[in-house]
Amino acid sequence: MGILIVDDEPDMRETLRVLLQLHGYSDIHCAVDGRDALHFLASNGPPIDLILTDIRMPGLSGIDVCKFVKNSPHLHDIPVLIHTALSDEPMLARAFAAGAHDFLPKPVGRIELLARVRAALDLKGELDRHRARERKLVEVTRKLERSNAKLRRLSVVDELTGISNRRYFNLLFRQEWSRASREQLPLSLIISDIDSFKNFNDQYGHPAGDRCLERVARTLSSFIHRSGDAVCRYGGEEFVILLANTDLQGARTVAEALRAAVEELKLENLGSPSGRVTISVGVACTLPQPDCSADAFLAAADRALYRAKSNGRNRVEVSACTVDRVPVDELAIAK
Ligand code: GH3
Ligand code: MG
Ligand code: MG
Repeated sequence: MGILIVDDEPDMRETLRVLLQLHGYSDIHCAVDGRDALHFLASNGPPIDLILTDIRMPGLSGIDVCKFVKNSPHLHDIPVLIHTALSDEPMLARAFAAGAHDFLPKPVGRIELLARVRAALDLKGELDRHRARERKLVEVTRKLERSNAKLRRLSVVDELTGISNRRYFNLLFRQEWSRASREQLPLSLIISDIDSFKNFNDQYGHPAGDRCLERVARTLSSFIHRSGDAVCRYGGEEFVILLANTDLQGARTVAEALRAAVEELKLENLGSPSGRVTISVGVACTLPQPDCSADAFLAAADRALYRAKSNGRNRVEVSACTVDRVPVDELAIAK
């Protein structure tokens, strides 16, 4: 471990150096006064684990050295051992106030020197180990935070299509429902389902079905940009689109655009009546009330989807929910 001896008296420096070297301390450096010590410490030289300094020196004193060390974030763990005459009590008090670790009375005795040096170095070793454990803990905590963030991301993303999953939809739906209810803003929901997708899988194979799902998901996502809006894979070949602050007319326009965009992909599906990959779409819009059920709203959109299926597929059907929670005005619009 590195020891820095600071003393303006060459004999004293030499005595301390030889004594310490004789007892196995090999990494010893010397500074001829306080200024020299500060220069050495600031120069990013070899690591120092203990400073052994005289108090009274021309220019900067041992107390100045001590203050410098204790005020430097990268040095302040280094114990400072001062040596001075016992009778020099005021100086001793100032040295301790400046953060000195211990003192050695002059003349410095061999046994005392070695005992105090050993104790100070033991303490420094313990502090270093403590700091290393702290650093490790910070590193592990950061890694854990990164993993948790990744897990949180993964837990709301659909693995196949890369869009948000049903779990995310449930969270967002609850949040947007409360907001729309609080601020009395319309909320719209679109549920879409790929037509005759079972036949698609049967005809072209499951991997092609997966690629088709990705294409449809990407197409639907390309229409949704506003914050508070989201496209989520609700399950299988079913997607939900939540549109915050959007009235029935707006939602119907979006739904029709989505339907047309999927048809325009011109993906072959010979198992479907149209010969192409298409979607059926159900739309619902409501002005949520605090005592109104979000599930009823979801069910209204689902009913509209069911109607789109039974009315021939590749079409949009609309449900408008009134504020008294009873879905009314279930409109059918032609393609
Ligand atoms: P409809 O027009 O009435 O919606 O008929 P459909 O064939 O699309 O509906 P059905 O519910 O009978 O079939 C849905 C199919 O979607 C069956 C299932 O294998 C397929 N599917 C669900 N999830 C995936 C998936 O992740 N990958 C693939 N390739 N197929 C899936
Ligand atoms: Mg389907
Ligand atoms: Mg389905």
